[in-house]
Amino acid sequence: MTDTLNWQNFVLSVILGAGVIFICYSIRRLFHLKEIQGNSVYLNYLLILSIFVVFLSLYLLALLITQPILSIHYISVIGLLLTSFIIKFAVNLNYESAVASIKSSALENYYTTHDDLTGLPNLSFFNNQLEKLLGVSRREDDVFALLLIGLNRFKIINETLGYFVGDAILQEITQRIRTSLRKTDLIARLGGDEFVVLINPVEAQGHIHTIANNIAKSVQEPLAVQGNPADVGVSIGVAIYPKHANNSVALIEKARNAMMVAEKHGHGVFVYDDVAADSQIQDIQIIGMLQRAIQDEQLVILYQPQVRLSDKKIISAEALLRWQHPNYGMLDPGSFIPYAEKAGLMYEINLWLLNKVVMLLVSWQEKKIQLPIAFNITAHGFVNKDFQQQLNAYLKRHTWLAERIKIELTETSSIEHIDQVREAMILYKKYGLSFSLDDYGTKHASLEYLHKLPFDELKIDQLFMANATSDENSQAIIQHAKDIAEQLKLSTTAEGIENEEVFKIAKQFGINNGQGFYFSEAQMPQAIEK
Ligand code: C2E
Ligand code: MG
Ligand code: MG
Repeated sequence: MTDTLNWQNFVLSVILGAGVIFICYSIRRLFHLKEIQGNSVYLNYLLILSIFVVFLSLYLLALLITQPILSIHYISVIGLLLTSFIIKFAVNLNYESAVASIKSSALENYYTTHDDLTGLPNLSFFNNQLEKLLGVSRREDDVFALLLIGLNRFKIINETLGYFVGDAILQEITQRIRTSLRKTDLIARLGGDEFVVLINPVEAQGHIHTIANNIAKSVQEPLAVQGNPADVGVSIGVAIYPKHANNSVALIEKARNAMMVAEKHGHGVFVYDDVAADSQIQDIQIIGMLQRAIQDEQLVILYQPQVRLSDKKIISAEALLRWQHPNYGMLDPGSFIPYAEKAGLMYEINLWLLNKVVMLLVSWQEKKIQLPIAFNITAHGFVNKDFQQQLNAYLKRHTWLAERIKIELTETSSIEHIDQVREAMILYKKYGLSFSLDDYGTKHASLEYLHKLPFDELKIDQLFMANATSDENSQAIIQHAKDIAEQLKLSTTAEGIENEEVFKIAKQFGINNGQGFYFSEAQMPQAIEK
């Protein structure tokens, strides 16, 4: 009998012990859950807890009133075990789902505040941090610096080596910027090829120069992705709080101004300085105005007739860009295209121009005017993917269009990807487009262009035509241009035929076509139609 009792007591103690362990474990988790979900979590468990308490009281009662072991003991102990198990199970389930939801919202939060490609904080996270830092710095009289980092030539790299290589380069550069900084400095990607860094605190301005120069140096170290060497330059603009600005918008604006000046000068680093930056800031203001001009449709296109010299018949018209400025009147392209190129706005302008020119050609076609239009574009602009995509779409829609478009290639610096230009030219020539080499004799790459690219026409620069009547050197160059064109089987157009004398000289040289004030200035399309 005593043996059985001992044995039964032992079993009961084990069951009871397990129940107590479950309950303790559940209560610990319940406290965690309370931290996550608040006091309401207790309510959910009140019911099961009360059943547990009922069984506990039953068990204690049975202990007091019964001798020595009764089935009520078993019932209450098993009840205790069951309820404690239910509690453990329910708490566990609730706890796991709460943790999973925390994890997923943390992940969601991470993706909305960080950049996928580089893992760096994004613009919205950065703005948030900047506002916080401004608050603290105002209270504590701290000085901090904002560095805006822009990559030079990244657009070209992306276009020539492809977006995959471009992405890998951005990741590598992120790493390099990171290792040039302290762990406490914030670095974020603002999008595209632009990064921003907050250096806090700043002990001395010289200190910032050192950091910025280190970043520039590390980014510009030779770089190769999958065997593709890439030469990435960097421009860094620095603005310091509170010296240059005391709010986030002005601070970023000044750092951007400084960055653009750095880019313009080819320096790696430029710290914003009101006095020194003054003249450069004017350039930047022009770029800002130009950006608005594109949106506000202040750009216009005039058309200058191109004439066959033998019978003075108009054979085409050259599209020439103008800026109808609200304060300064009609501006020539020479006064704004260099800024547009510097600021990368030419890609957008080229697309705009193409649309307008095609619209005009379509309306002429409807009026049975079949005059081709010559379109000025740099080789860079011409091989731009967006431009070619747009051009392809138009050529597909209107089969007659190709023969009405003449591309006048101009180049302001020596060409970097001549093979790509060549391939594109060969392709478009098959469709029926023709190509002129513009400003022959004045640009660095003219001869290399002629050597490698399949042009149809050579345009002799107005510089030589202007002096053609008196200057022997100009005459020699015109003769040379005519000879080389003949050898290469290209037609010739003389620019800048300003008067009868120049017209006659051009004819004597055997030049095929001409354009200039002698025939007509650039005009609105309606005038050309007449
Ligand atoms: P360009 O392509 O060589 O254009 C000929 C320039 O000579 C035009 O200047 C035209 O107005 C000017 N011109 C025409 N006849 C005479 C003349 O008898 N005497 C003199 N002195 N000049 C004459 P514009 O319109 O100022 O254009 C200058 C340059 O700007 C163009 O030279 C071209 O390189 C560039 N450009 C113009 N429009 C565009 C464009 O849409 N895209 C690009 N990328 N460049 C453009
Ligand atoms: Mg031209
Ligand atoms: Mg020209």
